[in-house]
Amino acid sequence: MKFLYKILLWTMITMATAFGLSGYFFVNYVFEMALDREVSQALDDSNILQFALETAALNIPGKYDILQDTAVQEIGVNLERRGQGSGRLLRISGEGRKVLYASDGFTEDQDLLQSIEEDNIVWKVFQQGSNYYIHTGIVVNVMDRNLYLETMEDVTQVFEERATSFFVYRQVTLVMLICSAMVIFFVCMLLTKPIRLLAGATRKMAAGDYGYRARQVSNDELGQLTQDFNRMANVLEDTIGELQEEVRIREDFIAAFAHELKTPLTAIIGYADLLRSRQLDEEKHFLSANYIYTEGKRLESMSFRLLDIIVTKREQLDPQPVEAEVFFRYLEDMFAGNTDQTLRVRFDPGTVYTEANLLKSVLLNLVDNAFKASDEGDVVEVSGWNTEKGYAFQVKDYGVGIPEEDLKKVTEAFYMVDKSRSRSKNGAGLGLALCVEILRLHHSQLSIESAVGKGTCISFELPASSPEEGKRNHGEGK
Ligand code: ATP
Ligand code: MG
Repeated sequence: MKFLYKILLWTMITMATAFGLSGYFFVNYVFEMALDREVSQALDDSNILQFALETAALNIPGKYDILQDTAVQEIGVNLERRGQGSGRLLRISGEGRKVLYASDGFTEDQDLLQSIEEDNIVWKVFQQGSNYYIHTGIVVNVMDRNLYLETMEDVTQVFEERATSFFVYRQVTLVMLICSAMVIFFVCMLLTKPIRLLAGATRKMAAGDYGYRARQVSNDELGQLTQDFNRMANVLEDTIGELQEEVRIREDFIAAFAHELKTPLTAIIGYADLLRSRQLDEEKHFLSANYIYTEGKRLESMSFRLLDIIVTKREQLDPQPVEAEVFFRYLEDMFAGNTDQTLRVRFDPGTVYTEANLLKSVLLNLVDNAFKASDEGDVVEVSGWNTEKGYAFQVKDYGVGIPEEDLKKVTEAFYMVDKSRSRSKNGAGLGLALCVEILRLHHSQLSIESAVGKGTCISFELPASSPEEGKRNHGEGK
């Protein structure tokens, strides 16, 4: 059952029970009051009749001062006549509860008569057919005789009024419940709107529409829930986007890897086949074997690079403070034999908090790329300076440059802007991917600026000290 209908149903059940019970108690209370009034009226009447009977008995002239049964009957008739129109019936009985006078229609019932005692007025309400009566009984002592005076008054109207009140109350309650149900239905519709919108958004997202967001229509707890849901959806969408991007990169990686493997393997298999199937002269034999060797070497260096990347991905960094000079001297030594281009080094003295071997590998890759992109006689500049956060490195060349659309992709494994140019320089497109992984371990990243035909400038920043030490120094500085 829908939540909306559940609220509606339970509200209606509660209201119907509350209305029903309160109505029942109210109508009954009014009825009891009216009946009490009727009873006290009947008792008052009974007392008045008692006096009337006594007075009438004293006024009747009788022989031997004895009240005859006939005199009692006469009094009864008189009293009856006086009370005509009031709907009151009476019965007078003598000793032994023998009925001396009874109005027409007075009940035959003797129960109350038997229970009448001196100095005690008794009464009861009873039903006869469809009518209700109040029956009273009292002892009247006249002229040494104990007479039993009973009255019977019709109170059917009080009972009828109660039945009418119940009927009217039921009708009113029914109309009230129907009206309330309509109002509550619309109120529930309004209140549960955020839930419906949220459910709709959940269904849309489950169907793959991760960009869909629930509309916030209130500022209460449900509005807060919608906000939180949308915030969660944002995080989910980002995470899914990142995962999709990662899957794409992996697929590209596998495709590129298979392709990069195929090229040298085709050459190796081709030359190996040539060597085993033909008698070649010495020079061709050497050339073929040399191809196999160089392509094999290419494969070997590719597999080492790949291994480096995989190991770096899993590695935990063990950084130490290292003098920046160490890295610039290392680069100068490494490229001292290169006579085609000039390496120009300029740096400020400083400290870098890093794992020296890994940072050397990054700088080596960047300078190697810069040389490969430059022409003969070009200059490659490597510089370093202190920054607010630590120490920055920059490798700048004036070579071929990278087109803008390739800038984002050059750091992906196996990506080469100009494949034939890179391959001719023994490139496999893995160097920058390795740099990115190493810098990721340092919580840093490459910043690449390039213009085609003008050159490329790649820089990154590393901390100068461990984070704890950095905080301490910062505190002392203050
Ligand atoms: P590897 O480093 O594995 O030997 P690689 O140098 O080709 O091979 P990366 O270092 O990853 O691979 O560089 C990827 C590609 O980015 C290069 O093939 C090249 O096309 C481009 N590239 C990188 N650095 C520069 C640069 N300084 N100037 C111009 N193009 C560059
Ligand atoms: Mg490289």
